[in-house]
Amino acid sequence: ERERARLHTRTVRSGELFARAAAVMPRGVPSGFQASDPWPTYLSHGSGATVWDVDGNEYADFHNGFGVMCVGHANPVIAAAVSERMALGTHFAAPTEGSIVVAEELRRRWGLPAWRFTNSGTESTMDAVHLARGATGRDVMVKIEGTYHGHHDAVMVSVKPPPDRMGPRSAPVPVPYGEGFAPGTAEATRVVPFNDADALRAVLDERVAGVIMEPAMMNVNIVPPVPGYLEAVRAACDEAGALLIFDEVKTGAAVAAGGATELYGVTPDVVCLAKAMCGGLPGGAVGMTAALGELIAEGRVKQQGTFNGNPLTMAAAEATLLRVLTDDAYRALHAANERLMAECDRVIETYALPAHTVGMGSKGCVVMSPEPVLEYRDYLTKIHHELTDLAWLFHMNRGVFMTPGQDEEWTLSVMHSGADRQRYVDAFETFAREVTA
Ligand code: PLP
Repeated sequence: ERERARLHTRTVRSGELFARAAAVMPRGVPSGFQASDPWPTYLSHGSGATVWDVDGNEYADFHNGFGVMCVGHANPVIAAAVSERMALGTHFAAPTEGSIVVAEELRRRWGLPAWRFTNSGTESTMDAVHLARGATGRDVMVKIEGTYHGHHDAVMVSVKPPPDRMGPRSAPVPVPYGEGFAPGTAEATRVVPFNDADALRAVLDERVAGVIMEPAMMNVNIVPPVPGYLEAVRAACDEAGALLIFDEVKTGAAVAAGGATELYGVTPDVVCLAKAMCGGLPGGAVGMTAALGELIAEGRVKQQGTFNGNPLTMAAAEATLLRVLTDDAYRALHAANERLMAECDRVIETYALPAHTVGMGSKGCVVMSPEPVLEYRDYLTKIHHELTDLAWLFHMNRGVFMTPGQDEEWTLSVMHSGADRQRYVDAFETFAREVTA
């Protein structure tokens, strides 16, 4: 209660803006994931690893725009590339050379030969589902219980399903995510737990067009794949004639040059990107095998959009991928992340917190469970959710900006310093000391 009251008194101006915003936007936000109770913290600007809210509070940003801003806020390289492009015209809906440069770089990073652009992660996974159904002539998609792949119908199933509706683990029930779907949407989806190749094999049959999954789950903190799991998934898909889709919207350019595909050495048929690859401008991409590229080239599977490959977005993506997120930058991000995790581990040990750290590339988190979390159902039952909420409040009140809710991870940028990381550790240590006192 004390921490909550403190949040309110520190964000009075946000509260005022919320009153105004709620009159024109449901819950006072442009997108559901930006909402929080009793009001969101409205930001005014950012620079490097720092953001400021409308009350003038300064934060070290570990939210980082849901992991988009690996380049850091107002990075001069990105700003210059975008301004230069701005002066040359921002939109033609005709192809520009920038899209070729970015596609070539994505091919180099992921090893997949054919690429198209989108405007968001949602569009990338939507195109991937069309490819799976179009290539196989089958209708059913398999997804992992608990994962989020954006807000189109085919994947809005069993995204964090409520425990009383999700059925037994041996036969998870596909639960629509909210209302507003045509009948049959959930029925065209089969749901399996993460990290269980046997469960996946059991649902693969001649109706299954494809399996869509994050190679590491990123919306229930971070849940990495157990050794051998992704290889088993790849083999099972091949055997069943189903396409394997990796949703790397979150992992993508944030964890390694070639994303989780490179880290784990398993190549999907389709990879979905967005978030970090465009350095803060809205955009995404979908990469695929040559045969799938042919389907699009022949016009059998449609892939299009007015803003796809927008010159401004391509300028930001080119600067991000070729000039900011270089191999050296990934090495530095990884090392910084390891140091932050080690410091959090020290705090956990000192105060005997029931927690552990998990990390990957620029991303990491403290999981409030002494045991590893392997799938969504573990996340529901093993994690101490009140502690997670309280940690968020402690961080926000001590100048560490974090995602609202319990489910996310921190993302470092190339502009985070040791002092920024220390701010996180100090807030976390204060939290640990006070909750264990
Ligand atoms: N896939 C994953 C794994 C995501 O985390 C998200 C968004 O958080 C999406 C897809 C959807 O991306 P967007 O919000 O850009 O539509």
